[in-house]
Amino acid sequence: MTHIAIIGAGISGLATAYAIEHQAKQAEFDVETLVVEKEPRTGGKILSIKDDGFLCEWGPNGFLDNKPMTLDLCHQLQIDQQLLRSDDNARKRFIYSDRTLHQLPENGFSFLKSKLISWPGKFRLAGEMVIPKRQNEKDETLAEFGRRRLGSEALDKLISPMVSGIFAGDPETMSLKSCFPRIYELEQEYGGLIKAMLKLAKKKRAEVKAGKAVASAAGPGGVLTSFSGGIQELTAGVAAALAGKILTGNGVQQIEQKEDGFFLNLEDGQQLEVDMVVTAAPAYAVANMLDQLNDKSSTLLRQIPYATMNVICFGYQREQISFDLNGFGYLIPKAEGCNTLGTLWDSSIFSNRAPEGMVLLRSMMGGAANSAAIDFSEDQVKARTMDDLTQIMGIESEPDFVKIFRHRHAIPQYTRGHAQRLQELEESLQGSPDLILTGNAFYGVGLNDCVHAANQAATKVIARMAKRRE
Ligand SMILES: Cc1cc2nc3c(=O)[nH]c(=O)nc-3n(C[C@H](O)[C@H](O)[C@H](O)COP(=O)(O)OP(=O)(O)OC[C@H]3O[C@@H](n4cnc5c(N)ncnc54)[C@H](O)[C@@H]3O)c2cc1C
Repeated sequence: MTHIAIIGAGISGLATAYAIEHQAKQAEFDVETLVVEKEPRTGGKILSIKDDGFLCEWGPNGFLDNKPMTLDLCHQLQIDQQLLRSDDNARKRFIYSDRTLHQLPENGFSFLKSKLISWPGKFRLAGEMVIPKRQNEKDETLAEFGRRRLGSEALDKLISPMVSGIFAGDPETMSLKSCFPRIYELEQEYGGLIKAMLKLAKKKRAEVKAGKAVASAAGPGGVLTSFSGGIQELTAGVAAALAGKILTGNGVQQIEQKEDGFFLNLEDGQQLEVDMVVTAAPAYAVANMLDQLNDKSSTLLRQIPYATMNVICFGYQREQISFDLNGFGYLIPKAEGCNTLGTLWDSSIFSNRAPEGMVLLRSMMGGAANSAAIDFSEDQVKARTMDDLTQIMGIESEPDFVKIFRHRHAIPQYTRGHAQRLQELEESLQGSPDLILTGNAFYGVGLNDCVHAANQAATKVIARMAKRRE
């Protein structure tokens, strides 16, 4: 029997434990998994809070269905019947610019009609077609990439809000290759983004014609997908399906190497003995655990910074809001000088998020651009959010329902040099092949990325077990 500890019970840790059990069964290996979690509950960033008839997501509100990983996991767990697709109208996303909400163009024609980007900005963007692909290997930031290929206006009004929407990050520091590897590849493979879009659309049309693919109205971004009881049903589903135990409310302080395996020293003084370890906790927490075992790895892990975030849920009576909340919500470019990063119209995305006759709005505040916001008082957060809602949607009344969530370590930032750091990290761990690192700090922060990385971590564990058996 091989004893495997997985540290951290967010989606990464739970999905890793599940994948290890699943893959071990297929390979006929005898394993016992134990998930060790610092907090008294499982789920990590995933938590769906029901209060007063509202359903407020503490962190993520769903995953996109344009990648198969989370959908496949739901299928294996047999919880796919409970999946809830976001409302069709949630395809409409907005950007607040020049004191107006502009719908994000969904195609070339609506892009030409849109007033979001000026005509000079549109010409500059179209010029992307003729800009040669970059040859040097420097790790380019998102801002450098945006300015070089698309122009400053597109950077400010399209890329920056997208980066704050996904990473709460600053495009001036974030690495293109690590944050959006597909965009990096498209430039390398096709010579540019517009060229890539045209060629891929042509390929898709040919596949649809040949019956090898289905035409989809969802667009490349996919459909946001959750559950009627909130995204927490995902982590609850994985936790319930595990054969191994989950130990909550007891964090790992140190990982110590022993002759054939590891000791885990826990916060309450207990010491666990295991054969293999997979860490799925945040990078700074893993850095602390490895302090004595591997100084180099600890140092590299500490170099992955985290953005902060306040999540503000406001519930209103529908009749108090004259604004048309038909869509997903909006993001705000930094240049607008607002307090919040954007607001999601949560009860328009999934209708059961607010009681009958009420609406739920969820605003984000903070991120790399405004890290001080994490220390604002409740009154300050509330007042500044209301200021933005008044300015942008004309909402004057006080919300009937308020909930504010704080994330001091919201999202890891893949800054310039991230890929190089990960390579060095991998090298630094070569002497400890039975210690495997996963989680959202490395190769993607979306739930699909976390599940994908979890499956890969499990595959490494099984490969290692095969080697140990030789
Ligand atoms: C506000 C917000 C909104 C988001 N929205 C979306 C979205 O809509 N869609 C999407 O795909 N992604 C979204 N994300 C990103 C996504 O939620 C995260 O990347 C993902 O949930 C991270 O999962 P994880 O398991 O890697 O990490 P975490 O969820 O952070 O889990 C790590 C776990 O490790 C535990 N831990 C820490 N220290 C120790 C220790 N010493 N010992 C044991 N355990 C420890 C923690 O308590 C935690 O439970 C959002 C993130 C935030 C913050």
